[in-house]
Amino acid sequence: MRDLAREEIFKIKPYIPGKPVEEVERELDITDVIKLASNENPLGPSPLAIEAITAFASKVNVYPDGNCFYLKKALAAALNCTSEEIVLGNGSDNLLMLLGAAFLNPTDEIIMGTPSFSEYDFSAKVMGAKTVKVPLKNFAYDLEGIANALTDKTKIVFICNPNNPTGTIVTATEVESFIQKVPAGVLVVFDEAYYEYVETSAYPDSLQYVRENKNVIVLRTFSKIYGLAGLRIGYGVAPKEIISAINRVREPFNVNLLAQKAALAALSDTNFLEKSRAVNAAGKEMLYDFLRARGLEFVPTETNFIFINIGIDSQEVFQKFLRQGIIVRTGDIFGHPEFIRVTVGTSRENKRFITALEKVLS
Ligand code: PMP
Repeated sequence: MRDLAREEIFKIKPYIPGKPVEEVERELDITDVIKLASNENPLGPSPLAIEAITAFASKVNVYPDGNCFYLKKALAAALNCTSEEIVLGNGSDNLLMLLGAAFLNPTDEIIMGTPSFSEYDFSAKVMGAKTVKVPLKNFAYDLEGIANALTDKTKIVFICNPNNPTGTIVTATEVESFIQKVPAGVLVVFDEAYYEYVETSAYPDSLQYVRENKNVIVLRTFSKIYGLAGLRIGYGVAPKEIISAINRVREPFNVNLLAQKAALAALSDTNFLEKSRAVNAAGKEMLYDFLRARGLEFVPTETNFIFINIGIDSQEVFQKFLRQGIIVRTGDIFGHPEFIRVTVGTSRENKRFITALEKVLS
């Protein structure tokens, strides 16, 4: 077997997904389990998206539009760009893989922060390229550190903004000064999976760099605030030469029909977006109040999850939460074994989390 497969793939560590609710209910023989482990929207999908899925269910015998014409048109109007500057993916995960396939040679390097989203490293490893990891500074991407790590081998720099798992951002000022230092042969990827949750005005308008025709791609997703994680759909915005390179390695029908229709409907559902933002903001405050009162360290977040220092081994904490029907993420996979990452839920879910945390701490 080892002789058959490419040697590079044996360096890949498998992705550890959040534990599914059904698996926990089956294993522990309990019900009403809540998953606060994968930063999904606790309100469910946009109701308009559900309508669209229902309406198009009877059409799935036909291949989807491989060009996602209507969705691109709507996104272009919303983002003030052209359809040629947009690519759709089977989740932004798919786009990360396509970036690797289109741009990475085995002699290339990518740079990313650590801890951050593991799929950048995955994409690099699949292509046999090298990953250079620059530690975060105060839980945030260190753009100066990344600029210092640039070499003539660097091909892609991934900036997770806001960062998963810490929820921090890099500011417009930091990004502006960083972009000046990036040589022409480097592609900068802004992964903005949590863009719609950001509250601070210091957050950069990264699409500005696309408009300036820089080697920049901005990735966003319908998995988080739009509540469509199970359908798998995300998008990238970049100058059209970059999009055209990605299209060369993209499978013709990488985004399914229901995902396209649901995303188009969700995009227009401003009520749902506003409600999701408000529920998240209120949930953040509820959790912050509790954490402050208990004197627990946490990283203030611009997303729908919080990175919390529980002060106890997080694997142990994970099991204790699990027995109370709550799935969280352990910090050990991010190099912070005493932290957990918890998704902000509905008010009811947050109260359950707080009650469970009280028990874990006592
Ligand atoms: N980027 C970041 C930072 C993420 O947290 C996630 C989801 N965990 C993704 C990208 C991938 O999202 P999706 O493939 O569902 O669009």
